[in-house]
Amino acid sequence: MQYNYLFGPVPSRRLGISLGVDLVPMKTCTLDCVYCECGKTSRLALERKEYVPFDAVKKELTHYLAHHTRPDYITFSGSGEPTLHLKIGDVIHFIRNHAPDIPVAVLTNGTLFYQKQVRKDVIDAAVVIPSLDAATEKTFQKINRPCSQLRLEGIIRGLVQFRKEYSGEIWLEIFIIPGLNDSSNELEALKQTIEKINPDQIHLNTLDRPGTVSTLRPASLDELEHVLEYLQMESAVIVADPPEHKALFAYRKDTASAIVGTIARRPCTLKDLSEILGLPADEVKTYLASLETEGAIKSVKQKRGLFYRLSNKYRLMGGH
Ligand code: SF4
Repeated sequence: MQYNYLFGPVPSRRLGISLGVDLVPMKTCTLDCVYCECGKTSRLALERKEYVPFDAVKKELTHYLAHHTRPDYITFSGSGEPTLHLKIGDVIHFIRNHAPDIPVAVLTNGTLFYQKQVRKDVIDAAVVIPSLDAATEKTFQKINRPCSQLRLEGIIRGLVQFRKEYSGEIWLEIFIIPGLNDSSNELEALKQTIEKINPDQIHLNTLDRPGTVSTLRPASLDELEHVLEYLQMESAVIVADPPEHKALFAYRKDTASAIVGTIARRPCTLKDLSEILGLPADEVKTYLASLETEGAIKSVKQKRGLFYRLSNKYRLMGGH
């Protein structure tokens, strides 16, 4: 079956093997962030509606769950803001009913959480990952270029209210853009706002691929560490791969890295890997052979076949 609204699964550092659900057409969002990896927002929208047919999403999920290895998470993300879809709550309930063992994550810009119904719609997700890049209106306008009706104050109020109503995990993601939101003033405002929102974790991120504005650059590891130090919050972590790390972990971007990332979470057979990564078995086999020769992975014979896992040596080196 050709899937139009599901993508992946992709190995992700925060969510393991994650199957994506994309509920809006490219690129429908309430914001037009300067760093957006999906490109410029072509439909800047505030109206919630059934952007893609609920029945078709249900059909694809049903087919996927019946024919594939279970992912670690089912994650709402993709071509824009998923809470713009009027039936995101129904899709989450559908997953909860049909695959109660798979936790749901929602990647959102949080701009619609001022609406009670939106907060209610995502209440059954295991993890909600809202982004917040600025705590002053001026910087919010500069970085996130919102729909004209949106105001930062209302968005923050929505996030604070959501925290009171929601018992799952909130991981607040902040994109650090040097020169835009890393001054002492901006960081102080962010710190106070984070304290009000009280998320379970704070994830500092930066640009990975070019955004919509070519003059932007990613924050360096030093700059991200400076923010971390400024915030002085135990639950804050750097989740970005700053440029210094990229050279070191460049292999992550290729197939070998996807294989290593996948079996680092759990041993897999060739068939599992081919299914999870959506790659032909022959191709996966070639990579497995070379990773095994390098001593990065080991194969172990078990009842269900030959399983691949990370070698101890590789684990000691820090794995992926
Ligand atoms: S909220 Fe996300 S999808 Fe929307 S413009 Fe910003 S980065 Fe892109």
